[in-house]
Amino acid sequence: MAESLISDLITLQDLTYKIQSFSSDLSREDTEKTIGKALQMWSNASQLTFTRVSTPGVKVYLNVKFVSGFHGDNHPTDGPGMELAHAFFPLHNKGLAGDVHFDDDETFSINGRPGVDLLWLAVHELGHSLGLEHTFHPNAVMFPYYTGYRPNLRLSSDDRNGIQRLYGKFALY
Ligand code: CA
Ligand code: ZN
Ligand code: ZN
Repeated sequence: MAESLISDLITLQDLTYKIQSFSSDLSREDTEKTIGKALQMWSNASQLTFTRVSTPGVKVYLNVKFVSGFHGDNHPTDGPGMELAHAFFPLHNKGLAGDVHFDDDETFSINGRPGVDLLWLAVHELGHSLGLEHTFHPNAVMFPYYTGYRPNLRLSSDDRNGIQRLYGKFALY
């Protein structure tokens, strides 16, 4: 990411989000909890806060959707396997900036059940939403490839440094 974007991002610390559609594999509650938990991990490591909005018609910064095939953004999903999700970097694509689209042709799961672990994927994709690029640090959640369910998933020091470079360390008060 260009350094010049960083100062703009600093102003984006209190972010709103919405879950606009749900996984066909998980209950709404499990999906909401998992997305909330993923955002909390980034929030715990930085000065970011996230507020969920569910009021229809109210625009938010970060829209989360589960989509299949063509869904209005020049980036159709590719069926089961291959690409699991895509996310839009901040300050690009205007209205889509910060959004995450999960490929609902994947089978998503939580807590190590068979399927793609939604928590790992959400933390990774939301990392992109917040402006993080891939890193080849082996323990980083921003590693480019899905490596399977990890119990007690945590950010690596590389992930924490990345988010803190963009948004500052967590506030000590
Ligand atoms: Ca796919
Ligand atoms: Zn999309
Ligand atoms: Zn990625």
